[in-house]
Amino acid sequence: AARNPGQPEFLQAVSEVMESLWPFIGRHPKYAEHGLLDRLVEPERMISFRVCWVDDRGDVQVNRGYRIQHSSAIGPYKGGLRFHPSVNASILKFPAFEQTFKNALTTLPMGGGKGGSDFDPKGKSPGEVMRFCQAFISELFRHIGGDTDVPAGDIGVGGREVGFMTGMMKKLSNRADCVFTGKGLSFGGSLIRPEATGYGTVYFAQEMLQRTGRSFDGLRVSVSGSGNVAQYAVEKAMALGARVVTVSDSSGTVVDEDGFSPEKLAELMEVKNHLYGRVSDYAERTRSRFHAGIRPWGVKVDVALPCATQNELEEEDARTLVKNGVLCVAEGANMPSTLRAVEVFEEARVLFAPGKASNAGGVATSGLEMSQNAMRLSWPREEVDARLLGIMQGIHAACVQHGQRDDGTIDYVDGANVAGFVKVADAMLAQGVI
Ligand code: NDP
Repeated sequence: AARNPGQPEFLQAVSEVMESLWPFIGRHPKYAEHGLLDRLVEPERMISFRVCWVDDRGDVQVNRGYRIQHSSAIGPYKGGLRFHPSVNASILKFPAFEQTFKNALTTLPMGGGKGGSDFDPKGKSPGEVMRFCQAFISELFRHIGGDTDVPAGDIGVGGREVGFMTGMMKKLSNRADCVFTGKGLSFGGSLIRPEATGYGTVYFAQEMLQRTGRSFDGLRVSVSGSGNVAQYAVEKAMALGARVVTVSDSSGTVVDEDGFSPEKLAELMEVKNHLYGRVSDYAERTRSRFHAGIRPWGVKVDVALPCATQNELEEEDARTLVKNGVLCVAEGANMPSTLRAVEVFEEARVLFAPGKASNAGGVATSGLEMSQNAMRLSWPREEVDARLLGIMQGIHAACVQHGQRDDGTIDYVDGANVAGFVKVADAMLAQGVI
């Protein structure tokens, strides 16, 4: 904590991993040698830079940009860019750290990174968003590349923004290699990449349910958020027969007891992805109920899928979900549950999947996009989806292998942390003290 003052999110992510690792390292002391843990919690490189751009009124705006290159032990840095006013070093260091283990879990050769800016895309015109993206890349371009660091989208960064940044990157580097994933289909994007994080989260939850003899069919599901991850989590849960009763954003929650339908989801996508509106606008258009200032966790469900942002599910929310009989919680977002909330789920033996396992489908499919670009090929939808499912099943199996409790249940937090750590740590030990 003394080395990282004012970085509570980063310390939270490190504490969670270290709690899982202590017993494992006690049994395997080689992992405490060569300063391995001290090196693992220090990003290899952190870049912070000024981003200046001109808004529609002709005024100069100054934002701060970052890239955290956490670990290249097993491959090029890989992780998304986030544009949100809350962005600071801590808000990016925590997912960069988590990303390192997550990427190891996918079995693909990708290191961990994260980046972004305190730029707020809300209310900005398309022209302003483009000029900001170009200004951001005019500095970041010297630090990224197909074999060094490959960013993607995250909160506030979707296909439109990735397109603008890819264009500027090509112009400055005079190269057309794969420097972003999440690209449009016409310039190297992969089918299923937009769907991958949400689908993957549901595939992971499906594995957890199946292991205990259940399926999604007929279950009630709550989803938080209404962005990229949330939308495709809703779609896949519906396709597996679940009734999805909530979506949300930072202003409140839509509760729809009839459950989502493909038509309602299309409406939500129109409002969020094309009109850049709010879930309250969606509620108005579909005449569903919108509860301002409320999170989804008070609604009685069998499965909860937090897909919005960090620390959106706190201890009291977890207690309410448990009281209402929740069976399974799978994180689509990064670190949406607080440490205390996770303890509540674990004490109640709720099936709980941490984001670094259950939301790894996004980065895994980004890895598949890199492979397709390198081969100058694009795989059909069914092939990418089948590989995504296979990767999620593999991550689930790794968690089961490393997360067995004495009572036969699975601690997916320990399982994911240990499985991811072993791969990164072995790679670091083999490459010496660097
Ligand atoms: P989007 O920007 O598409 O959507 C984010 C959603 O979360 C919006 O509904 C947004 O509402 C809500 N949200 C953001 N900040 C807050 C907040 N402070 N309080 C309440 N709601 C908030 O982002 P994504 O769907 O891409 O990302 C969602 C989560 O998933 C993030 O944690 C991200 O790191 C994680 N993730 C994303 C991956 C991807 O492939 N995109 C991969 C792996 C993880 P509002 O509009 O009101 O801000």
